[in-house]
Amino acid sequence: AAKGTGDQLRRWTPALDERSLEHARLGAELRTALDEGQFHLVYQPIVELPSERIVAVEALVRWEHPTRGTVSPVEFIPVAEQNGLIVELGAWILRTACARLADWQVCHGPNAPDRVSVNVSAKQLARPGFVASVLAVLAETGLSTECLTVEVTETAVFEGGPAVTALHELRALGVAIALDDFGTGHSSLGLLQTVPVTTIKVDKSFVDNVTQAGRHAVIAETLIRLSHGLGLTAVAEGVETAEQAAALQRLGYRYLQGYHYGRPVAEPDFEGIAAAA
Ligand code: C2E
Ligand code: CA
Ligand code: CA
Ligand code: CA
Repeated sequence: AAKGTGDQLRRWTPALDERSLEHARLGAELRTALDEGQFHLVYQPIVELPSERIVAVEALVRWEHPTRGTVSPVEFIPVAEQNGLIVELGAWILRTACARLADWQVCHGPNAPDRVSVNVSAKQLARPGFVASVLAVLAETGLSTECLTVEVTETAVFEGGPAVTALHELRALGVAIALDDFGTGHSSLGLLQTVPVTTIKVDKSFVDNVTQAGRHAVIAETLIRLSHGLGLTAVAEGVETAEQAAALQRLGYRYLQGYHYGRPVAEPDFEGIAAAA
């Protein structure tokens, strides 16, 4: 048994070193990436039923690395959070997304989305001055606070403290607050009592099997009832098929997001979707 453990360790340790090395490399490259403008944003439609009008878009960051190709935010956001660059990157994301929405509202008039949803990490939220920086961006881009939704994950606000204080301040100013990946954390329901949530984003895992009678459908139904009971908006995430969309609509969902309506792209087709429906 002792020998087995030793073998396991020998196999495991280099892999761990490799991972933390990779982590360190990515971290160093993030600085350059920011300076050289290797990031861009893509936007995924959030549609309202039954019209299928794009009422909002979620901004998602992309890193076009000169040699690695496109690096997923799942890989580099945690690294940026760890080395603190998320503050600068996040500020750039917020400013870029708001400026973009302001442009669309000029170019597309009533077909433009009403709001943009921006993912914000705990580190950003908890920083003194975050709320002031949001107000500065809105003033600079000419957007009202009602045009912005801040998306936070359950883990980001789990510990309370300055992150949650910032959310209360933003909410009081009219910014919408969405709890992301709702239902996958340890304290989803508890957070609804402490965080000034306006929107729950029902996780894709509940949407995946919503067409089959079973647990997922029951949970999806319970969550839409919960949102109605609390006066919250519910957005179903990761809707990939017309069948899922129909099932969700039957359950009472009005806001859907997913590949069925559009992948995240630089320039969503705001005129197209409702017209084609
Ligand atoms: P998220 O906020 O839950 O974003 C939804 C993810 O699901 C996106 O992946 C999106 O492309 C993907 N998705 C949307 N619809 C579908 C669908 O129908 N099917 C499938 N299979 N996937 C779908 P993405 O863009 O790779 O982002 C992954 C995560 O990275 C995000 O999860 C978010 O946690 C983080 N992230 C992305 N952009 C930002 C950002 O600007 N700031 C921060 N702090 N985090 C970000
Ligand atoms: Ca999100
Ligand atoms: Ca999500
Ligand atoms: Ca997610």
